[in-house]
Amino acid sequence: MIVGVQPMAGFDKLLHYRVPASLRADVRPGSLVRVPIVNRQKLAIVVEVDAIPDCAPEKLKLVTAALHAFPALTPDLLALAKWMHAYYAARMESVFEAMIPAAVRGEANVKEEKYLSLARTLTADELAAFRKKAPQQARLCEFLRQQFKPAKKSLVLSRLDCTAAVAAALIKRGFVREETRHVERVAYADSLSGGGEIVTGLPPKLNEEQAAAVDSVHASLAREKFAVHLLHGVTGSGKTEVYLRAVEEVLAAGGSAIYLVPEVALTPQTVSRLRGRFEAAGHQTVVWHSRLSEGERLDGWQALASGQARVVVGARSAVFAPVHDLRLIVVDEEHEPAYKQDETPRYHGRDVAVYRAKLANAVCLLGSATPSLESVVNVRAGKYQINRLLRRVDDKKMPDIQIVDMRIELMRQRGLVTLSRLLVDHMHQRFERKEQTILFINRRGYSSSMLCRKCGHVEECPHCSVTLTYHRADETLKCHLCGHERGAPAVCPKCAAPDIRWRGLGTQRIEEAVRRVLPRARLERVDTDTMSKKNRFRQILNDFRAGKIDVLIGTQMIGKGLDFPNVTLVGLVDADLSMHVPDFRANERTFQLLVQVAGRAGRGDRTGEVVVQTFTPKAEAIQFARHADFDGFAEAELGMRKKFNYPPYRHLVHHLFRGRNPEKIQFYADQWVKRVEKTFGAAVEIRGPTPAPIEKVKDEYRYQVWYFVARVTAFVPELVKMQNEFTWPDDVSQVLDVDPMSLT
Ligand code: ADP
Ligand code: ZN
Repeated sequence: MIVGVQPMAGFDKLLHYRVPASLRADVRPGSLVRVPIVNRQKLAIVVEVDAIPDCAPEKLKLVTAALHAFPALTPDLLALAKWMHAYYAARMESVFEAMIPAAVRGEANVKEEKYLSLARTLTADELAAFRKKAPQQARLCEFLRQQFKPAKKSLVLSRLDCTAAVAAALIKRGFVREETRHVERVAYADSLSGGGEIVTGLPPKLNEEQAAAVDSVHASLAREKFAVHLLHGVTGSGKTEVYLRAVEEVLAAGGSAIYLVPEVALTPQTVSRLRGRFEAAGHQTVVWHSRLSEGERLDGWQALASGQARVVVGARSAVFAPVHDLRLIVVDEEHEPAYKQDETPRYHGRDVAVYRAKLANAVCLLGSATPSLESVVNVRAGKYQINRLLRRVDDKKMPDIQIVDMRIELMRQRGLVTLSRLLVDHMHQRFERKEQTILFINRRGYSSSMLCRKCGHVEECPHCSVTLTYHRADETLKCHLCGHERGAPAVCPKCAAPDIRWRGLGTQRIEEAVRRVLPRARLERVDTDTMSKKNRFRQILNDFRAGKIDVLIGTQMIGKGLDFPNVTLVGLVDADLSMHVPDFRANERTFQLLVQVAGRAGRGDRTGEVVVQTFTPKAEAIQFARHADFDGFAEAELGMRKKFNYPPYRHLVHHLFRGRNPEKIQFYADQWVKRVEKTFGAAVEIRGPTPAPIEKVKDEYRYQVWYFVARVTAFVPELVKMQNEFTWPDDVSQVLDVDPMSLT
């Protein structure tokens, strides 16, 4: 047998090897193997078997080893890898690296341990017979009987001072079971999945809208053909219940399902709810998140690759789970930019989910209260089916949204205003009534930058063209791009005025403002700094749920998927920040932010209220969000996109050039653009080269080019080919980003 493999050795090329008879059973398409490359053993993925090499077969070298008994990539994943390679302009090797966790590639610090346990209880007669004929085997069985859980083989053997042959005999005869577990060399004390907070409970009876959506997805599943459903349901309409029913149906029929959430750490409630439901029905559920230890990751992967587990819940990389017989992929909050990976391969988890479902003839179920305009356009084009949930569960009212014009507020209160009177009044009421409030803010840190009110000076990073962020805790100014750091000045470095103002708001500043107006309230703050501390976030959420916190302050990252019945007030302190950024998706982001944030209010019996503070109350995104008018917003926004021929009407590809010498970069970028224009003509619209919004990072200058194209697959592979043929100087590096989610 001859196989074609893609090595993980720093280059994209198909190499051929012969497979020795001893490895034939374990070498299949998608298998991870080791092969010799110039006297070195390298990892490789089997891409094809029974390949026809371009030289005499007997000249080929032999595959050295197979890493696992199961292929790392199922046939649909292999096909998906080829598509990602072409679509996202990513090297094959980097795609495989994204698909196969390091622990599985054998690159992590994990070792295997064998564990023994009794396969069945021995009768008294059997034991007696054993004692006579094979006293050592009898001792081993008796020892294992006293253990409550599988015991480490090496320990058992040394304790009883017996050889591996004794255990082997028992295993062969079916008395003892041997299993392999993966243990960390460095043990981790805690992990998210380790916590036992599994939520169980009887599934609710579906309401009419939910039942109609479930029926519609059911019909697609029954057809066993590729289909995409967009579940567009207002916040609190019970979308999760629809996803759950679909997954349960797939599992009951013996198929597998993948359930994607934007960020596992931010949705602990959802994850426990899912695990509770699936595990109650006897389905081992793998939870896939960034904080798994390598050993846990390998065990979870193996459960999926072996078919022992058929459902996985996780963030975007879970879309590559090697499950057998994939029938369904759920993508919750499909509009979330977090699905886009910002390092190579720069793939979009939702789009990859749709394409994988297509390759596997499976159903992809996308859901959101604020679907992306990309998905809306796909519904309009008849590519996706739409299922709508227009009402909240139990007909709970949608929250009332009130807009505060901060310009007027500023004149009234004179000076810097953090909390408007309306918001403060409402917070007082909640506090008196023992109800809870959540305050949202757009950014992190105490305040974003340092601005002198007198001369207008703003402190910038000497290495990057961005403002420095003021961190109050240690009185420093820090650059979030390169990490440059220095003490915060007491007076303006330019005009020496003592009057230094901190522009923008941060969670800390809001906390101080709330303390002033509600000194007796119990406050807690969640931001990226809190999130970096293990378990802190979970602790805060538990306390909040238990009513030990009156006001929760956080960046919008806590706005996802949280469901607290006692929250009746939500304040969005700075609605503008997401709007005044140079990105054509700014309106869409603002609308989504408002609707999602508002959706956290009034999930219990009382109607929720939302207060939105803004300097631009007339903005479309704010007005449509206020009336919860998604269709109106989509119509207006799509009109604008159509006019400028922006996505979703065309695809956008970003090309970044980097280097220390700005003239040189500009020169090469100019030459390159001319070449692209000549080759593609009217098929591509080019903007640039221009300096990137952040011109300099770590002393490297950045230039960018934007390409607008109708079809990615007709453009990107060709562009990459041209790029490889173009002669670039060594000190100009470049990055291509297809369908970028952020323009800043
Ligand atoms: P969404 O994801 O649409 O915002 P959820 O799925 O989180 O909404 O549902 C909101 C709440 O309603 C959850 O607490 C859920 O358990 C509950 N729920 C969902 N469906 C029903 C139903 N048919 N009957 C009663 N409660 C339901
Ligand atoms: Zn910097």
